Amino acid sequence: MNIILLGPPGAGKGTQAHLLVSERGMIQLSTGDMLREAKDSGTEMGKVVADVMARGALVTDEIVIGLIREKLQGDKAGGFIFDGFPRTLAQADALEELLEECGETLDKVVAMEVNDEALVARITARSTCGDCGEVYNDITKPIPADGKCSKCGGTEFKRRADDNEESLKTRLMEYYKKTSMLIGYYHAKKKLAWVNGLGEIAEVHDEIAAVLDA
Ligand code: AMP
Repeated sequence: MNIILLGPPGAGKGTQAHLLVSERGMIQLSTGDMLREAKDSGTEMGKVVADVMARGALVTDEIVIGLIREKLQGDKAGGFIFDGFPRTLAQADALEELLEECGETLDKVVAMEVNDEALVARITARSTCGDCGEVYNDITKPIPADGKCSKCGGTEFKRRADDNEESLKTRLMEYYKKTSMLIGYYHAKKKLAWVNGLGEIAEVHDEIAAVLDA
């Protein structure tokens, strides 16, 4: 089963994708993670995207489609979770073609409903484990008192460079201008299902599981 998790920055896509990976053996394809890796390892492409990402703008369709194309050629395991991709109609069309080329289909698009105040609160309190990427939140899911990641025991935690109010304004605007129309697009294709992204992590997960198992 191949699915898209669709929602604005801070909706909880990454957190929910991690749960699906560990429970269902699915493969998370996060273009944001791939771009951050390229940036951290200093590749040519990483240098090109660093400034765009820091501002909160979208990198070009060509770059992200190229990243996804590469990953679709690898192991398919329990199916793909597209997290943070597609973000434009051109990317959505490209995804359909790429899946067709490798004999796969898109099964469900899970749209995560949240409100802007919750997004700002979540994002400005967010940190991730430097080793495994587990997501923490100062208020709702603090780093354990012993300073060790509950998933992998790592002791280094990072805050994302673009998790600040200024970049977040741009990221939200990019979402509403360029990504939110994908909701209509996938509704028309009868693939869309809504979940309430404001609940506890486990509640949201249960809602997503119900959608996938329906
Ligand atoms: P994310 O981790 O999904 O919030 O993505 C972080 C940043 O990476 C975004 O603000 C964009 O600059 C860039 N990015 C990630 N995915 C895409 C995409 N599908 N299309 C364009 N830019 C992207």
